[in-house]
Amino acid sequence: MILKTIDKSRLCFYLFRMKKMLIILILLIVILLLAVSQTAEILREADFYTQLEKNYVRCDLCPNNCVLKAGESGICKVRKNINGKLYSLVYGQPVSINIDPIEKKPLYHFLPGTKVLSLATVGCNMNCNFCQNWTISQTSPGEIQVKQVTPAEIIDLAMQNDCPSIAFTYTEPTVFYEYMYDIAVLAHQNGIKTVWVTCGYINEAPLRKLAPFIDAANIDLKGFSEEFYHTYTTGSLLPVLHTLKTAKEEGIYFEITNLLIPAANDDPEEIHAMCRWIINDLGAEYPLHFSRFFPNYRLLNRPQTPAKTLRTAYQIALEEGLKYVYVGNISGISEDTVCPQCQKKLIIRSGYSLLEDHVIDGKCAFCGEQIPGIFSP
Ligand code: SF4
Repeated sequence: MILKTIDKSRLCFYLFRMKKMLIILILLIVILLLAVSQTAEILREADFYTQLEKNYVRCDLCPNNCVLKAGESGICKVRKNINGKLYSLVYGQPVSINIDPIEKKPLYHFLPGTKVLSLATVGCNMNCNFCQNWTISQTSPGEIQVKQVTPAEIIDLAMQNDCPSIAFTYTEPTVFYEYMYDIAVLAHQNGIKTVWVTCGYINEAPLRKLAPFIDAANIDLKGFSEEFYHTYTTGSLLPVLHTLKTAKEEGIYFEITNLLIPAANDDPEEIHAMCRWIINDLGAEYPLHFSRFFPNYRLLNRPQTPAKTLRTAYQIALEEGLKYVYVGNISGISEDTVCPQCQKKLIIRSGYSLLEDHVIDGKCAFCGEQIPGIFSP
């Protein structure tokens, strides 16, 4: 009788322990499932890559064409080979979201005077030693605090803040291609325009896929020699020129920025050659922004660009025949849009502020000259 009682109490004890273990097991499974679903949300399989032998992959997104073995990340630090598949490590994880004036991109012929919701993730496919945003562009995922923001939430943010456009900017948006693409498609579905601020280092196939969902771009032409690109940027010139031509073919409206760095890309002959190329291969109507360099990142021993150099570049561009030439990061040289036909001031600016706008339905209000760009949402 006593034995039977002991057996029964032992059985109860074992059952209790088993129940406890079962609960712990279930809890562990739930935690594991949650972790897996979260990882799946953060990791997004890349759109443009090729699987190679022995679990290697080649990223086909930009001209670096990184070949990666399992566990390796690309030059941009944000695309990784995981077990023979390439993933974006930054999908839905912006490091920066701000509302900027569109003039800051800079875009002077695109919805002048409007606000643009601007965002970036970490990472860049170039490593320019003069980078102005190196604290985020040269950072790896995990090194810096990021937010979790879905494409739908980005659209909501733009709408809540009355932004008629969304810009992919600050770092190189090409490296967060899948996130940019999904936002751009959703933006168009919701009547919001999109802006791509880029170094132009992207392969043709991804650019052509993206193009129908991009309304405007500012494309950096950082210099006009391979020597400059190789010395200062880790990239090369030819792919950027190809991007400019492809963007034109695809009908993306764009403006060009050239950051003038003393003793690096400020040779007048090089500026002449760049302007001639723009006119011959793109057209005289594409706006060109010369921008003043300030010492930053690894180019701290170089002085800021003298005003004289910027004035010279401006004169060269006009002499060569470019119709819209601006000088940024410095006031008083060329901030306003002047009608190339009647020479009247069409858009008057002060820094990023719009003071007067005399473009009506894309035409000069004084003489009717067609002005390139997008002037209504
Ligand atoms: S996007 Fe990144 S991983 Fe892909 S080729 Fe360019 S640098 Fe390499």
